[in-house]
Amino acid sequence: MKDNRLFNETDASTDEPPPAFAAETAESSALQTSLFSSMPVQADFSRWNNWTWQMQNRIRSIARLRDYFPGLDSTGIHEAGAKFPFAITPYYASLIRRAERTDPVFAMSVPQMAELFDPACLKDDPLEEDEDMAVPGLVHRYQDRALLISTTSCAMYCRHCTRKRVAGRRDTCITRTRLERAVKYLSMHPEIHDVIISGGDPLTMSTEMLETVIAAVRSVKSVDIIRIGTRTPVVLPMRITDDLVNMLKKYHPIFINTHFNHPVELTPQAIEACGKLADAGIPLGNQSVLLKGINDDPHVMEELLRGLLKARVKPYYLFQCDLVRGVEHFRTPISKGIEIMEYLRGRVSGLGIPLYVVDAPHGGGKIPVLPNYIVSTSPTHTVLRNFEGQMVSYPEPGPHKAPHTGKTDRGDSAAGIWELSSGQHTKIQPQNCARLNRRETRKQTAAMLSPEA
Ligand code: SF4
Repeated sequence: MKDNRLFNETDASTDEPPPAFAAETAESSALQTSLFSSMPVQADFSRWNNWTWQMQNRIRSIARLRDYFPGLDSTGIHEAGAKFPFAITPYYASLIRRAERTDPVFAMSVPQMAELFDPACLKDDPLEEDEDMAVPGLVHRYQDRALLISTTSCAMYCRHCTRKRVAGRRDTCITRTRLERAVKYLSMHPEIHDVIISGGDPLTMSTEMLETVIAAVRSVKSVDIIRIGTRTPVVLPMRITDDLVNMLKKYHPIFINTHFNHPVELTPQAIEACGKLADAGIPLGNQSVLLKGINDDPHVMEELLRGLLKARVKPYYLFQCDLVRGVEHFRTPISKGIEIMEYLRGRVSGLGIPLYVVDAPHGGGKIPVLPNYIVSTSPTHTVLRNFEGQMVSYPEPGPHKAPHTGKTDRGDSAAGIWELSSGQHTKIQPQNCARLNRRETRKQTAAMLSPEA
């Protein structure tokens, strides 16, 4: 199996979950039953807010799901859960409002029959990360960056995960031997300035273990920045403890990228976790995946992006769903992503607009995909259009044989694209533009209020 390439010489790995993660006591089970069947779920704060308790009590069986959702239709859950890893923190499960596919949290966390549909275009490793693995656990694809797979464990196994071949197959952490090999490789490649510590989810490791990994990477002089990819603020926000942030602060510059996909995930607890990280001086970015039935709606996406900004998280990437096994039911056409980006531009501050990318099959890397804003070009002018449909002529530097005439052409049927690209006209303006109507209203108001009026 491919994941064995990463962790097969481990001194920590085992085919069984570590004891700390395997325990399910009668007491904890009873607590969860009461938590989900009768509010409040936070009846016992000391345990509920303890991240190791959440890890120990993850839901990993239909029987446990039924404890929380007695009417659950379990068709396909066992089969899909046997094929792809399955675990949900009690916290994340508490965000489920309907135990069915139409609930975004349910759809992202509970195995479904649809995952078994396996068209030929889907692969175990669609991004060919294994092919770019310089030493076990270290992916070196782009010249100045490398990605370190530090653990195979996650708090919750996302149904749309790209690294299903690794995440959750076994709960293991990187071994000392492998970490040393990775550090040696980094030292021998001073062109690598940016290391992404990923997994699995690095924040499922103990703070001590995580610090060992971070300190080892930080010891490489040519590494400028360390990034950590984690979904714990979303699925296990109690993991963001004071101890953790105090440890992270010692290794700046540290960046964290997290993975919110839907506004319902932005709970007060998740926002507080992000705030703690931001207060520690850690810039936060978000990488969403465009998922059918979850966030493939411009209004849902707008709400998510606005919520992220309020939580001090910069929307960084919106990923087209990768061609990984088990995700066909989540895939949208690329045109859906373009439609959403078209909607966002002009409505949401540029600070809140992520870059929509296709992570190319065959390991080609991230390809930005945008609505087309360039309408035409000539040696002297480029014709651009904005979100309103206004078209403008941008004069290129240099001598212009056909200088602008100064005409502005609102409603001028003689103006076409050629007139813009040749510099005969400067713009074509659609009628009833909200922005210009606002401008006009302001002028009229100012005129009414002026002393001469
Ligand atoms: S947290 Fe990341 S690595 Fe883990 S299952 Fe989700 S997407 Fe995959």
